Parts: sequence; C-alpha cells; structure tokens
Amino acid sequence: MQYVSTRGSAPTLDFAGVTLAGLASDGGLYVPEHWPSFTTDEIAAMRGLPYAELAARVMQPFVGDCLTPERLRALCEEAYGRFSHKAVTPLVQLDERQWLLELFHGPTLAFKDVALQLLGLLFEEFLERDNARLTIVGATSGDTGSAAIDAVAGRERAEIFMLHPAGRVSDVQRRQMTTVLAPNVHNIAIDGSFDDAQAMVKRIFADDTVTAKHRIGAVNSINWARLMAQVVYYFAAALPLGAPQRKTAFSVPTGNFGDVFAGYVASQMGLPIERLIVATNVNDILHRALSDGDYSAGAVTATAAPSMDIQVSSNFERLLFAAGGRDGAAMAQQMRGFEADKVMQLTNAQRDGMAALFTSARADDADMAHAMRWAQENCCQILDPHTAIGLHAALASDVPPDVPVVTLATAHPAKFPDAVERATGARPALPARIGDLFAREERFTALDGGYDAVRAYILGHAS
Ligand SMILES: *Cc1c(COP(=O)(O)O)cnc(C)c1O
Repeated sequence: MQYVSTRGSAPTLDFAGVTLAGLASDGGLYVPEHWPSFTTDEIAAMRGLPYAELAARVMQPFVGDCLTPERLRALCEEAYGRFSHKAVTPLVQLDERQWLLELFHGPTLAFKDVALQLLGLLFEEFLERDNARLTIVGATSGDTGSAAIDAVAGRERAEIFMLHPAGRVSDVQRRQMTTVLAPNVHNIAIDGSFDDAQAMVKRIFADDTVTAKHRIGAVNSINWARLMAQVVYYFAAALPLGAPQRKTAFSVPTGNFGDVFAGYVASQMGLPIERLIVATNVNDILHRALSDGDYSAGAVTATAAPSMDIQVSSNFERLLFAAGGRDGAAMAQQMRGFEADKVMQLTNAQRDGMAALFTSARADDADMAHAMRWAQENCCQILDPHTAIGLHAALASDVPPDVPVVTLATAHPAKFPDAVERATGARPALPARIGDLFAREERFTALDGGYDAVRAYILGHAS
C-alpha cells in the first residue's frame, strides 16, 4: 500500500514511511492511495475472532508488505495483551438499542492507548530496521500525552517531547504524563490552548533547522498508523451486533476528528455503518461544518470535556480530501486560505460526499451532565464527560429504530473525577494499577515564550 498527501505534492510513502513521518512535507496528511475493502463473506468470517487477530486482519491491507502477517499478529498480541479486559474493547448494553463501546481498558485509561500501544511497537520495529532514532514531538489536550508517553518511555530509539496547555488538562491527566520520569520523556507546559500547542508542533515539522538535525516523528492523530489501529474497534463492535447483515450507527465524541475518521475508513472498507454521529462540546466547529458547511475557528472555551476543547480539527482535512474528490492541489489552496483567515466554506462536492454518512450534535455542560445522570439512573453506568457528550448525541439522533447505536466510551470516568462528581454526586476511584498517582513525583518544564522557547528547548534537549 502506498500513501499520498492530502495536499498533493509530498512524496508517496509506504506504510513504514508514513508511520515514521507524521506530517507530510507539503503540510498535508497522509492517506492510503485507495481504500482497501472486504467482501461480505470476508467480514462474516471475522466474527468471534480474538481482538488481536481481528486487528491484524483489518490492518494487513494498510501495512502491505512492510510486515509479514505473522509479525503484525505478534505485535498486535503484544500491544493488546497489556489491556486489563480480555475483550480489549468490550461492548456494554445500555437499553434496547443504545450500547457503549468501552475503549478505556488500556494502561492510561483512554482510547488513545488502543492505537498508541501498537504505534510504540511499530516505531521500534521500523527504527531498528533502519538503525535510526526518532524524536517525537506531540501536543496533547490531555489523553494523547499520557498514552504516547506510556508507549515510548524507556525505549532505546525514541525520545518524546510532549506539549500540553498549562492548567487546561485535569490533574489526573497531567500527573499521568508528568510522573513518568524516564530520561527519554520531556513534558512541556505551554501558555495557551491545545490549538496553540498543535500549531507549534506543526511548525516544528516544517522547521528546517530542527529537521536537519533530528528525525521528527508524530504521535498525534496526524499519524496515519493511529487511525488505522482505531478502524479495528468499529469492526469489533459491529460484528457482534450483526454485521455484515445488519447496520450499526456510531456516536463519537470528537475533537481532532481522528476517532470518527477511523469510522469513515471502516465504512469505506465495507463495514455496514448506518450513520456516524459527530458529537462536539461547545467548541463546535465540526458541528457547524457538518450542518452548515461553515468551517471557521472561534476562540477555544474550556469545558468539562477538555480532550475535545479544540477548534482546528486536523483530521477533518482527510475527510475533505477523501469525500471531496481527492484533489490535492485544490485541497492545498483551500487549507492555505483557512490557515490565513481561520475561515473556510466547504465545497458542494465535499458537503455531498459527507451528507449520507455523517450527522452531528453539540452538547453544552448541562446536556453532558444530563446524559451522565441518565446513564447512572437507568443503567447504573458512570460515564466520563466525553462519553456523556457522545451519549447525549446518540439519544438525540434520528437513526431508524431498528439500528443499534454504539457510543464510543473514550475515557474512564476516574480521569475526570471532579466533573463526574459535579454531575452525579459519585466520585469515581482510580483503578488500583494507578492508585498511587497522587503520591508520585512530578517533573515538567513550563515555557511561556511561545514557539521560539519551545523550539530552543527541543534543540537543547534532543539527543
Ligand atoms: C482524544 C479524545 C477525544 C477526541 O478524539 P479525536 O480523535 O481527537 O476526535 C474524545 N474523548 C477523549 C476522552 C479523548 O481523549
């Protein structure tokens, strides 16, 4: 499988190349040059497979000949063997048609582990093959940071610089990053929002002085391998609910549009998906884009669901490219306009290309709290704020009544104990394996000098 940039002018890469590359050199994002697809019989034959085996089957077409099927399967077994639930991503039934897909049984309690545990192993595999080293630079709205750090800490060929917006992640989220004291881990708190941090990371990728000295890698969902690993759990959920004969709808709490883009990929591969419901908080650029074609960034508002406090959704570019006719030159022009003005109107082709599959909904803090209480009172389930936003959208959607609706449960409620307690009165306890988090020593560097300070820090500390 070869990969092309959404902006049309970066070199084509194979799977190992995109895994180590991150952002394309033309500022675009890598996507497979075509969507592989499975027949109905091939999908039916996936029923009942253990998660690691299912993962290897779904991902093999994207990996191509960069890994043998046996090696891919072994890496999946190692990555998913670290999850605390045997099913890896278990389904939980809420009522006759509403379901939760629990994606938070990995080491850092959010869905990011599903992709990053594998990505850490893929980095190691491909770096060893090239006898190379990688300097990973990432931005986090809270959960990517800890998941990436867990996947990379102590590894020999990679080091990681992780930027988080100071004061805008929960205490649990911050401590899950800053208490990892391995020498190859560098936590940086920046003065600003997640969008500011993400913009700095994109500048690092385009900074010739930095890239001349270091091979820079990505752990954000601009990295294709992350999205690929997330495609798997759409299959894992839809198969027991009747795929390929019966359709499933998914409600996805969304920030950077990575998780829900993986759902789009699953549908392109032949999985029968009735609808993808894009659930946002009040930072609703995606809701406005999908309902009115208006993709314009406002200021970021801090909410109880900080991992979705995002106004520039990197992966939306992948959907615009794929659904709008795969025109890299036009995409480059459209994105340059957005980067200059922070305003973009979707083309008719892009809107038509999305209309059949996507709907969207926006939840404010009251909607979120209401959904949390609904789950608590009716289903004895304590949800995290992000999952509650997804459930709000699922309950409000007009999906046909015979179609099951699966809300992606993106984080464990104990990552956001204050917000959960405010809404439900119940304070979720940390699982035993990280029960001593608040007793551990923290280490991070606060930088308030903007891009130049971050760049200088990375140049000064990268090995
Ligand atoms: C990252 C994250 C999201 C948003 O996912 P995207 O792929 O960025 O859309 C939602 N919920 C939680 C808990 C997250 O960590």
